Amino acid sequence: MSKKYTTVLFDADNTLLDFDMDERCALKSVMALYGVPETEENIKTYSQINLSLWKTIETGELTKEELKRIRFGKYFSAIGFHCDTDPFTVNENYLSFLSEGGNTLEGAADLCRELKEKGYDLYIVTNGIASTQKKRLTKSGLLPFFTEVFVSETIGHQKPKKEYFDYVLSHINEKDIDKIILVGDSLTSDIKGAMNAGITCVWLNLKGQELPEGYKPDFIIGDIKEAGEIIRK
Ligand SMILES: [Mg+2]
Repeated sequence: MSKKYTTVLFDADNTLLDFDMDERCALKSVMALYGVPETEENIKTYSQINLSLWKTIETGELTKEELKRIRFGKYFSAIGFHCDTDPFTVNENYLSFLSEGGNTLEGAADLCRELKEKGYDLYIVTNGIASTQKKRLTKSGLLPFFTEVFVSETIGHQKPKKEYFDYVLSHINEKDIDKIILVGDSLTSDIKGAMNAGITCVWLNLKGQELPEGYKPDFIIGDIKEAGEIIRK
């Protein structure tokens, strides 16, 4: 029997890789380096600022290069911390700590191994900084399961843009779009992008969010382990 799907596009952060954990560890290292008080509130503020900056990258209002220059300046002013080091250098140090991450979500490695062994063609579709994402995927041990890693920074477009998905679709082996399935946790980048590109998609709803209007994932799961059943059907 031939497979319904042959090809899986996996988002990386908070789909396979535990970004929240990696971010927290890297941030704590940066805080220790510059003497920022390590309070839960200071950690939370960073996550909020970072997330809102990435949302403006998704909408095209900000570039990744700009993000590298402003992220820690915005953060330090939000928490009222004075830092003598320029924000770009702080960010470079943060990224090198982040590159040391690569924690995976429970069940992610087993799922990738099983799909790979069963002959599925697996790809990573990720927004992010190319060198950081490649290093984290290497550290996580997941890299060997993937035919290719598509990082937005290298492609010059990010999810959910059509140009990003056009690039991916023209560089993967499968040419029949009905045999491709995407798994991701972000509605605004993964699900919106897949919907626009006409790719079947699975929303990994880790935090039990309500589905807002305008998004129509084909499947919704609460745990990455459930993705296997959908893909193998
Ligand atoms: Mg993600």
